[in-house]
Amino acid sequence: MFDTLQDRLSTVFKGLRSKGRLTEADLDATMREIRIALLEADVNLGVVKEFVAAVKERSLGAELSKALNPSQQIIKIVNEELVSILGGEARTIRFAKRPPTVIMLAGLQGAGKTTLAGKLAKWLAGSQHSPLLVAADLQRPNAVNQLQIVGQRAGVQVFAPEPGNGVGDPVDVARRAIEHARTKLHDVVIVDTAGRLGVDAELMQQAADIKAAVNPDETLFVVDAMIGQDAVNTAKAFDEGVGIDGVVLTKLDGDARGGAALSIARVLGKPIMFASNGEALADFDMFHPDRMASRILGMGDVLTLIEQAEKTFDAEQSRAAAEKLMGRGKFGLQDFLSQMQQLRKMGPMSKILGMLPGAGQFKDAINEIDEKEIDRVEAIIYSMTPKERDDVSILNGSRRARIAKGAGVQVSDVNKLVTRFVEARKMMESMAGGGMPMPGMPGMG
Ligand code: GDP
Repeated sequence: MFDTLQDRLSTVFKGLRSKGRLTEADLDATMREIRIALLEADVNLGVVKEFVAAVKERSLGAELSKALNPSQQIIKIVNEELVSILGGEARTIRFAKRPPTVIMLAGLQGAGKTTLAGKLAKWLAGSQHSPLLVAADLQRPNAVNQLQIVGQRAGVQVFAPEPGNGVGDPVDVARRAIEHARTKLHDVVIVDTAGRLGVDAELMQQAADIKAAVNPDETLFVVDAMIGQDAVNTAKAFDEGVGIDGVVLTKLDGDARGGAALSIARVLGKPIMFASNGEALADFDMFHPDRMASRILGMGDVLTLIEQAEKTFDAEQSRAAAEKLMGRGKFGLQDFLSQMQQLRKMGPMSKILGMLPGAGQFKDAINEIDEKEIDRVEAIIYSMTPKERDDVSILNGSRRARIAKGAGVQVSDVNKLVTRFVEARKMMESMAGGGMPMPGMPGMG
């Protein structure tokens, strides 16, 4: 899902990462690449323009956060703007004050409505609701039967017209279903309506009639994400003809480009409420714009990490440490201690490292990180005098013995820390990196 866009954006960001400062020309080049990436993903042109303009304006307007380097800042802005075009806050069903809550599903044939009806019913049943599925698709010969099978699999009751009664009137079926739900104490009614292969007046009229008869609390437009921009156009047609409250995207599992998902909420001004990503009943969830955005950016939880870092890190202190690393003054154990302590404020070390992209490869090493060992490192540094912390080269045998005793550890532990610290510092100096403290520090595996 979203494979091409993910690849494209990660290349853009990789290019930025090597830059310490961004010129306006860098920014323009980046915006051009982001624009191409979005257009290739089949995102609506108007949405692309708006998106790129917003990212550029915010990047120039330099909401420059001192704790982040330029590429991190742009990633953060792109992420926030992605969340915004995907609809902002996740939105779930608005339940009626007086049950039953009526949910009507509309959409083209093959969009995945019937499957979705089952998924939604199962999802609701799993959260203390008692849904009733209603087969108001009397056009397709097999539709009623299909809904009955889906209902059975979901463990949910289905209201369907009696067989042998001819085609029947979907409006009447829907109306009777609501009555049935009231008497049988179903608190949610999901009405599956007929679809056509294309948008036509008769289809719209029927959906509008059912809507008028059952007065749904939510009219959800179900659409196959794989049809790209056609999904947006069909949604518009349904919104004009029937009036919709929200969108459900299906077949996201087969959607490599993501154009529909990235356009529909913004173009329609209606939220994407649910997403379906497979044929099994469990392949379904609420649509979370923020999670979707970080998936598109392929960043795992790194955005959470960036945010926590912003909140936690004292920018001045981080910069001072970074400057020392870059040759203006010597990075000592005192600096290391305060960096480590700031990092630890964000949570257990294994959790923080686990949020970094690519952390999966080092899962075993990360799981082995022992917080107690980090405590021990702190204790050793605490036992040193300020002068020793500044310059480890003065640590002779008797000083090391004194420190070990003070920290309640072996001299070999002190030796190990000092050796690793000197090695890590050498590595950091050669990288002369940004403001974030480095893993690979003493005491960490
Ligand atoms: P309806 O005509 O709108 O009721 O569509 P159906 O529910 O009958 O679905 C049409 C086809 O799409 C069926 O073969 C479903 O199994 C399949 N389908 C539905 N949702 C998904 C999904 O999220 N992912 C995939 N891969 N297939 C789906």
